Amino acid sequence: MTDYYATLGVSRDASTEEIKRAYRKLARQHHPDVAGADNADKFKEIAAAHEVLSNAEKRQMYDMGQYPGAGGGGGGAGAGFGFSDIFETFFQAAAGGGGAGRGPASRTRRGQDALLRISLELSEAAFGVSKDIEVETAVICTTCQGSCCRPGTSPTTCEVCHGRGSVQRMARSFLGQVMTTSACANCSGFGTIITDPCTECAGEGRVRTRRTVRVNVPAGVDDGTRIKLTGQGEVGPAGGPPGDLYVEVREKRHPLFTRRGDDLHCTTELPMTAAALGTVLELETLDGVRELDIRPGTQPDEIVTLKGLGIGHLNGGGRGDLHVHVQVTVPTKLDDSQETLLRELAGLRGEERPEARLSPAGNGVFSRLREKLHGR
Ligand SMILES: [Zn+2]
Ligand SMILES: [Zn+2]
Repeated sequence: MTDYYATLGVSRDASTEEIKRAYRKLARQHHPDVAGADNADKFKEIAAAHEVLSNAEKRQMYDMGQYPGAGGGGGGAGAGFGFSDIFETFFQAAAGGGGAGRGPASRTRRGQDALLRISLELSEAAFGVSKDIEVETAVICTTCQGSCCRPGTSPTTCEVCHGRGSVQRMARSFLGQVMTTSACANCSGFGTIITDPCTECAGEGRVRTRRTVRVNVPAGVDDGTRIKLTGQGEVGPAGGPPGDLYVEVREKRHPLFTRRGDDLHCTTELPMTAAALGTVLELETLDGVRELDIRPGTQPDEIVTLKGLGIGHLNGGGRGDLHVHVQVTVPTKLDDSQETLLRELAGLRGEERPEARLSPAGNGVFSRLREKLHGR
């Protein structure tokens, strides 16, 4: 089969004028009187293409694949799809606009979801909290109850589409005359027209307002956690069902406690003597003052853990722990009597001239170094 469009070098939606111009140009080049008798077949093909495509009726039949002898124009494009595919695509596209062809569209649509951010103290994240937050949102118009009409009035049927919401018309396409369905422009596809809109909401069926919403934040929420409040978002157009409200949690930094998962970490300084002798520290935790047992012989960087004083687990009961990192401090200034005492102790322990006891730097050293450098 022959693709007449390709023969003339024009596109499928070329106008009759373009087709004629292309034909005239090619005919001059390929006329047997000019190009020689060997070119007669090419010239015939160009002439045949022109004869069919310059005639609206023949062109349409050719496009539909029904022109006798042409063997179907659709296949010649080499696009790799058959006619049924083209038709399907075409009609899907035509039917897509605003649900045209499936009855009038509804004015009522679901409202949008809304997103709001709140800042929480660490203790609020640890124990959970109920907060009242102010939301600016669309609510249903109480004057018209979402009908969009001034009370006592109702929408009138559209005169253009007679309430169908869609109009049909014949359209020219590269497939020829095709019946297309599109949304009625007069009523925007709704099938009705609000002639007397509610003045309170200007025919929107909803009004914007500020209102207070209570959000229950469960224990264990983390920075970025979103809490969904179903149906607390915006009311939709024409009083449509509301969307959802999402409350995103931002956790404020705590001056002392760093959160890792549901565990908390902090650091305490401990004098050398207390590390050696052991002691009890009083520690301000999220749960108030707690006692921290320092066993005798506590080493630098040792971690003492207070069980269950961390953040509540989000799913299910229990809480994380509070880890206290011990930093043993060595006195930098000693008065005379302190120095005497320490020298005496060193003598008793045989530590006046300790030997170097070298070992390779372990991983722990480097991870501590990294923490120091990066402040983690
Ligand atoms: Zn209203
Ligand atoms: Zn209409």
